[in-house]
Amino acid sequence: MRPQILFPLFAPITSLKGIGPRLGPLYKRLCGEHIVNLLWHLPVGAIDRSYSPELKYADKDRVVTLALDIVEHAPPPARKPNLPYRIVGTDGTDQVIINYFNVKGDYLGKLYPTDRKTVVSGLLERFRGGWSMSHPDFVVPLERRDEIPRCEPVYALTECISGKMLRKVAQLALDKAPDLPEWHDPSLLAREKWPTWKEALRKLHNPTADVRTQMSDVREPFLSSDICNLTSGERKRLAYDELLADQLSLAVIRRHHRASGGRALPGTGEWVAKLKQSLPFKLTQGQETAIAEISADIKAPKRMLRLLQGDVGSGKTIVALMAMLQAAESGAQAALMAPTEILAKQHYARLCQFLKSVGIEIGLLVGKGRGGERQPVLDGLASGTLKLVVGTHALLQEEVKFHDLGLAVVDEQHRFGVNQRLQLSDKGRGVDILVMTATPIPRTLTLTAYGDMDVSRLPEKPTGRQPIDTRLINMERLEEVIEGVRRQIAKGAQIYWVCPLVAELETSDLAAATERAALLAKKLNSSPLEGEVRRGGPQQSPNSEILGQASPPLPQPLPQGEGGSLVGLIHGRMSSEEKDHVMAGFVGGTIKVLVATTVIEVGVDVPNATLMIVEHAERFGLAQLHQLRGRVGRGADKSSCLLLYQHPAGEMAKARLKMLRETEDGFRIAEEDLRLRGPGELLGLRQSGAPEFRIANLALHRDLLDMAHDDAKLILNRDPELTSERGKALRILLYLFERDAAVPLLGAG
Ligand code: ADP
Ligand code: MG
Repeated sequence: MRPQILFPLFAPITSLKGIGPRLGPLYKRLCGEHIVNLLWHLPVGAIDRSYSPELKYADKDRVVTLALDIVEHAPPPARKPNLPYRIVGTDGTDQVIINYFNVKGDYLGKLYPTDRKTVVSGLLERFRGGWSMSHPDFVVPLERRDEIPRCEPVYALTECISGKMLRKVAQLALDKAPDLPEWHDPSLLAREKWPTWKEALRKLHNPTADVRTQMSDVREPFLSSDICNLTSGERKRLAYDELLADQLSLAVIRRHHRASGGRALPGTGEWVAKLKQSLPFKLTQGQETAIAEISADIKAPKRMLRLLQGDVGSGKTIVALMAMLQAAESGAQAALMAPTEILAKQHYARLCQFLKSVGIEIGLLVGKGRGGERQPVLDGLASGTLKLVVGTHALLQEEVKFHDLGLAVVDEQHRFGVNQRLQLSDKGRGVDILVMTATPIPRTLTLTAYGDMDVSRLPEKPTGRQPIDTRLINMERLEEVIEGVRRQIAKGAQIYWVCPLVAELETSDLAAATERAALLAKKLNSSPLEGEVRRGGPQQSPNSEILGQASPPLPQPLPQGEGGSLVGLIHGRMSSEEKDHVMAGFVGGTIKVLVATTVIEVGVDVPNATLMIVEHAERFGLAQLHQLRGRVGRGADKSSCLLLYQHPAGEMAKARLKMLRETEDGFRIAEEDLRLRGPGELLGLRQSGAPEFRIANLALHRDLLDMAHDDAKLILNRDPELTSERGKALRILLYLFERDAAVPLLGAG
């Protein structure tokens, strides 16, 4: 139960004056549904309005606040309504022309009376040798001058919500903020000179002149003050609050997990040995080490919570399967949970292959329905005759009962939250957990995403993998790219074509991908092949030809896919049957080009795919691109990745993409991504259950994260159930940042 003291903060934002049924949904989208979310919606900058020079000596291109006598009104002539409405004012030292465009009605006459002083605040510019100001931000009579903030917070806004409105509701929200008991150690506060959380919020929403003095250019409030705000004591205090709440909740969950007892699953070694013998390849050193580490954990009578981290294609699946077999040898059951149906099915198909030699069965559980295939699996799991199962989160459904689940493997891809992982382990007793992730997460982020987990890494890729040739290509060269695609298809290659996903614009993304698929289908299916076909001819690297000169035309129709189309489209809105159908076409080779809107759906293994094309590559995170690129280069043929960018891409965007060309080291790429874009992008947090920080910015607050991590440990060592005065305050902190899933695990008290 949420503590009563927080009730006012968790009231709906619509309970604030000024947020009614019309604006409510907009505010909700902008920052969240509770009043506390408005408080977390901190200003991204500030505008200094305290500069009030004499006009004669004023600096140009600065925001000024001036007290003026209005000398003249000059509306545009009736025949030229496009000209501005001009108002001439003077401060006694010089005059300024105030311009308004597209004026409707006569409100300016009232706003700028000629018989008393008017105060305006806005950007002062030089125009034709005189002073001018267009559409001042504030216009008030002299006696109401105080209404103009000396330092005005600037918020991220959305349609229909103005800065003024946001400033007002933010103040109302601040009025609702209670005084909360302090959860930090007094010595820490003294050392860092941090204010209370309420004072920190109040200051950040009401920036003062000391913020301003650090700003280099008042016209760019976003850039300048963003940096100074992020490193101010107030900001750090709130970031630390958030990080501590996060680390504390993870530590509580982890402790609970540890304390709930494990069991020994020593195995017999029989099935593991059989599998090893039948493998068509030699395990890498990294795989051997990981298998040994995991095996030791499972064997020990403690509960395993281990992360298996390895770049795409590093061969995590086989490591997981070894662990599953050890559990099965011991008489227990093992489950592998994948984030999507396609991935679950692919795992299933591949595990079936591997298990042939061992001679044991594995079940598949996805989605609902299809009772015929489902019931035998459910029965087998309940009775214990079925030892192994692969599935989606369907595995978490209530009707799925295990006879004796001993190991849960979660193929993470950042799709599952901490709770879901725990949920699966609740289906057995003392269940060991192995989480697989392909994102090469830097240590800092491992802490936030997973808390204290043991980590096994697969540092190298299996031998024999060829490097992937990566190129940056201007979108203007689309025609050439399509020609390259045509040549590749003629050689028998298959191609991924990824269109970007921008969550807010799902429909238009879909439209773009559909359009792209249609264009490709039209170009590839209709006209005869122009590129040279080299099947059976002298071997030549396919890549040198991607954008190379086409050889002399050799007309020949392209091979046709099923239903006459070489091009398949897959996107998140399709039913899983539709997706399966398209995927089957691609895996089977009838579909040559797979156009996809989502990153996840292409997480499949098609060794024949040798070309990855990513449109609007500048919109993706580097780590994401790296993962996409990892989808090719899985077979024997040389593979390429073309990153198409929209011209003109910023220098920053290009520098980022170049980095991908230079290295295939996933860790380096991830570190760089973290530095440039922050953790949200790296972890793909927006689409996951992993924490998304509202205040902390890990690129700037990494030291705070380490501190919070140690602090959380210390706190729980001293006060494991959070019952002391400080402990009680920390419970409030957990609720404040909605990390309260951990609270019931604290036990009584
Ligand atoms: P990940 O899940 O880590 O991206 P996978 O487990 O899907 O990688 O493995 C990618 C491919 O590499 C699979 O086809 C797998 O059978 C193969 N593979 C795994 N280990 C090795 C190895 N040691 N040598 C060669 N190929 C391997
Ligand atoms: Mg995998």
